[in-house]
Amino acid sequence: AAKAVMQRFVAVAKGMPTKRKADDRNKDFDEIYGDFSTGEAKTQASRCSQCGVPFCQVHCPLHNNIPDWLKLTAEGRLEDAYEVSQATNTFPEVCGRICPQDRLCEGNCVIEKGFESVSIGAVERYITDTAWEEGWVKPAAPVRERPQSVGIIGGGPGGLAAADALRRRGYQVHVYDRYDRMGGLLIYGIPGFKLEKDVVERRTALLAQGGIHLHNNFEVGRDAMLAELREKHDAILISTGVYKARELELAGDKLDGIVPALDYLTASNKVGLGDSVPAFNEGTLDAKGKDVVVIGGGDTAMDCVRTAVRQGAKSVKCLYRRNRANMPGSLREVQNAEEEGVEFVWLAAPEGFAGVGKVKAVRASRIHLGLPDASGRQQPSKIDGSEFSLPADLVIKALGFDPEDTPTMFGAPGLAVTRWGTLRVDHKTMMSNLEGVFAAGDIVRGASLVVWAIRDGRDAADSIHRYIQAKAAGVAAAAE
Ligand code: FAD
Repeated sequence: AAKAVMQRFVAVAKGMPTKRKADDRNKDFDEIYGDFSTGEAKTQASRCSQCGVPFCQVHCPLHNNIPDWLKLTAEGRLEDAYEVSQATNTFPEVCGRICPQDRLCEGNCVIEKGFESVSIGAVERYITDTAWEEGWVKPAAPVRERPQSVGIIGGGPGGLAAADALRRRGYQVHVYDRYDRMGGLLIYGIPGFKLEKDVVERRTALLAQGGIHLHNNFEVGRDAMLAELREKHDAILISTGVYKARELELAGDKLDGIVPALDYLTASNKVGLGDSVPAFNEGTLDAKGKDVVVIGGGDTAMDCVRTAVRQGAKSVKCLYRRNRANMPGSLREVQNAEEEGVEFVWLAAPEGFAGVGKVKAVRASRIHLGLPDASGRQQPSKIDGSEFSLPADLVIKALGFDPEDTPTMFGAPGLAVTRWGTLRVDHKTMMSNLEGVFAAGDIVRGASLVVWAIRDGRDAADSIHRYIQAKAAGVAAAAE
């Protein structure tokens, strides 16, 4: 019977929700994809071949049970599909929108040998959006309250996934975040055209409704040190992400008009959320009417160029030292950016900045890609005498992020870090070298993906639960 509904990939082509035309979507920050109709979602889900070894699931960091929820969708059993989907993923509506599916589930879909993959991300989004509309998404309602409390530092996807899992088990959960809104990079990094902000805010509201205490504007290192929070709670999770922007250190890099990517994206997101941002209002962080050059080739750079287009920049160029084939960012995003009018200057690296007080141009050189090194990537080298100049009144640096100095910031010099500055944990328990202090997400992995942060948050919650229960059992045994 499964076969009657499924395996339609032979007859039905891959379909995606309609994508808004570039000259329509480049003026606002709304998502660029429309919604599947119920019929489209059913038909697309029915293309799944229900293969014996589902590589989509294997290659999903959350091991989402994709073949099962596709089949349930094809059968019209949407509430069941939602139940299966949310069983392994705390925020499926987020992953459905911003996972690089082409590299994870869809990129490993078995029918890709000759056919195009199932539109897994779009179906996931459809299932969860429907669940929200229908009221199937419920706040945590633990069957019993537990006396122990957990303090979570950092309210990004990692911290919030852990908070949800722990609260559902009945713990008293407190999330501390230095920003004025929860969500981490979901709210202030990733732009609305990839992930609309009400999608994040309705999740945050649901977490609060389930009894999680959310402490905004609470910076560990300023409002409390790690030791105080360890005193207060039975366990701590550090999920603070990575925020130290990599620098260029080139001549002229102190000129006005050269800004870090995250300052730029955060300002744009805040403006979208209705906040007043002085550095945006006075023009420093607004691309309107400017010649913009973004330096870098990752997801952050793609988000910057596309934001600049939407702010009404005069021209937007992306300077990257490798070529299209060697970009770290998602190719889907490069294509979206090109459609929206971004010009990519491949194989070019900045040499310095020209201007008096304010930047006027980026000086750059052409790059030759040599042989791959031990890491397998072709090494860039500068071509002598190839210097050229690009006019720029706004330069955005998107060269990646490193961890801040967490031990010093938290007043906990004994907290162990790796040579990259990420927190050192026992990968079986996710506990740091400090008893009862766990860590998850980018602060452990370095800059990674939302889906990995969710995975870590869920794993850390399991481990914290085991740790607290073992301790409680030990105390009870000692009292006997
Ligand atoms: P974060 O999301 O960074 O959250 C950490 C939180 O900790 C923040 O809210 C911060 O305010 C808080 N914090 C930090 N220090 C303190 C302190 N001392 N006290 C209190 N709170 C503190 N991934 C994808 O999968 N798809 C994408 O399309 C994608 N696009 C991206 C675009 C951009 C511009 C960037 C920068 C990243 C993108 N990523 C994307 C990566 C993804 O956002 C991260 O991997 C993910 O958010 C990491 O989650 P996290 O919970 O570890 O940290």
